[in-house]
Amino acid sequence: MKQSGRCQCGKINYNFNQEDVISAHHCHCKDCQRATGSGKATIIYIPNKKLNVDGEIKFFESKGSMGSTIRRGFCENCGSGIISYAKEMPMIKFVKAGTLDDSSWLNVESSFFAKASSDWNKPDENIKSFQGNPDLFSTIKNAIKSL
Ligand SMILES: [Zn+2]
Ligand SMILES: [Zn+2]
Repeated sequence: MKQSGRCQCGKINYNFNQEDVISAHHCHCKDCQRATGSGKATIIYIPNKKLNVDGEIKFFESKGSMGSTIRRGFCENCGSGIISYAKEMPMIKFVKAGTLDDSSWLNVESSFFAKASSDWNKPDENIKSFQGNPDLFSTIKNAIKSL
């Protein structure tokens, strides 16, 4: 099934097929808290070549805890955080779930950086929770192998 999303002003649009989604996760790390202005970011892993994006995304780079460089993408016009990725793994994009037109189908597998979570936004106890990042790269490598 085709899924679509956009930034708040609509300058950036994207779509993908739901069956191409690798997995979805909550990230409670401090950078995601700052980037979203909230308790966590909810991200969807999707192969870059399966994601169609229309519009210009501006990226902000910061060092992730695993030594990787995370590039968080946002709309320059309205500021919505929309798509990010690790510079070392550009073949996988992380779509921010809140930008989907309809996210009711989404199944979030696990939480990252539980140790950084705020008391007012604790990790979901019903799903797997990692204190830090559960080796993002091996997760992604496994995902690539299964493509
Ligand atoms: Zn926008
Ligand atoms: Zn994070």
